[in-house]
Amino acid sequence: MTKPLVMIAGGGIGGLATALTLHQIGVDCVVFESVRDLKPLGVGINLQPNAVRELIDLGIDAALLDQVGVPAKEWALVGLNGNDVYAEPRGLDAGYNWPQYAVHRGEFHMLLYRLVRERIGADAVKLGTRVTGYRNNPDGSVTADLEHADGSTSQHNGALLIGADGIHSAVRATMHPAQPPIHWGGAVMWRGTTWAKPIRTGSSFVGLGTHRQRMVIYPISHPDPETGLAMINWIAEVTYDDPNARENTGWFGQVEIDDFAHHFDGWAYDWLDVPALIRGADVAYENPMIDRDPISTWCDGAALLIGDAAHAMYPTGSNGASQAIIDARILGASMIEHGVTPAALAAFDAQLCGPVSALILRNRGAGPFGLLNMVDERCGGVFDDIDAVIPAQERAAFMAGYKKAAGFAIEALNSAAPTLAPGAKVPAA
Ligand SMILES: Cc1cc2nc3c(=O)[nH]c(=O)nc-3n(C[C@H](O)[C@H](O)[C@H](O)COP(=O)(O)OP(=O)(O)OC[C@H]3O[C@@H](n4cnc5c(N)ncnc54)[C@H](O)[C@@H]3O)c2cc1C
Repeated sequence: MTKPLVMIAGGGIGGLATALTLHQIGVDCVVFESVRDLKPLGVGINLQPNAVRELIDLGIDAALLDQVGVPAKEWALVGLNGNDVYAEPRGLDAGYNWPQYAVHRGEFHMLLYRLVRERIGADAVKLGTRVTGYRNNPDGSVTADLEHADGSTSQHNGALLIGADGIHSAVRATMHPAQPPIHWGGAVMWRGTTWAKPIRTGSSFVGLGTHRQRMVIYPISHPDPETGLAMINWIAEVTYDDPNARENTGWFGQVEIDDFAHHFDGWAYDWLDVPALIRGADVAYENPMIDRDPISTWCDGAALLIGDAAHAMYPTGSNGASQAIIDARILGASMIEHGVTPAALAAFDAQLCGPVSALILRNRGAGPFGLLNMVDERCGGVFDDIDAVIPAQERAAFMAGYKKAAGFAIEALNSAAPTLAPGAKVPAA
């Protein structure tokens, strides 16, 4: 009897984390990735402690993560006057049993790709192979429609199809043909990286500005021992009044720094020079803040959506990539319980679709940056003493609510059993 095969559409972070998880639990899989060549694309992303725990359980330890990023020590919101609105420790410093990592998305992605090839095989990821749709078969299996880089087409059968094909997912479009277009709320981000001296703790995530215009700044490498300079990821963000004013559906378009740097003229402090940081980058990318409206289900027979295909969300909570990794692991746990079956997908959907969809809407409401909205409502963004505007207890309660919803409450994570017990395998059918 041949072993059931799981097909994965998309070799991004979610798809590759799924492949590594399935390999760990003894399930055969193949990844179809549309691009002909995977390159280290993107800039900084955060891997929250819940996701780092899963990576460590996958054998991706601190030594490997230190090659692509740096443990995060602090999360801070700072007003335009340079005064703290809120600051808290992160990762191990906050009491988590696992660190939080700020990593270069592209380098982390390449690390996963290398591990998939080493562990599963050089042809585990079929590059230049786009999944264009699927159909459930009467025998319970699923057929994926494939389009190859040379323009030819073919079909591939499997026990299950996991749609990890990102925000423009073809698997999702097949599952929900009437879904609304991508949603844009009016904010535009410009992103880049610059070699500079790390600020504050040396590994702080800093959100600086107001609810309508801000900079997010954090290092994504250890400092160079000779120069002390680290690769600093920055995101310059402006909210426009008219969300219909522009076409906004893409991820990364390269832009001229002069096109946007003027928004941040004068943002210079004795501890941080924002204009210099922006102008120190070699390239910058424009990246509209887009997501998708939640859908009622991510599951259709033997097909399932995970990662951004299921729940593309605003990056305000720094949890898009982390949730894609968590998805992969919960899917693995579901297969341990239900086998390589549609029942495993249905159980995954029942557990995650509701709460993660709520998180999409919560992130639309500014996520943890909502504290800046509160500052604006109460004092127009101008303050000397933050305690007089939002008492410390209220600020802490706001953040605790967010972390609980996003699944990274400290005690809950530290005391939770591993998602996949060490050595667990899917029982033979
Ligand atoms: C090039 C790129 C750069 C990014 N840079 C950043 C960044 O700097 N900061 C940030 O916060 N987030 C970034 N993201 C998004 C971030 O990686 C995701 O939000 C998160 O990691 C969830 O990953 P995912 O695997 O679900 O989706 P994605 O990371 O989007 O991966 C989806 C994968 O599927 C492939 N694909 C798409 N359609 C098909 C198809 N029909 N058939 C087969 N394969 C398909 C894509 O080529 C891609 O490799 C980026 C995404 C991409 C694709």
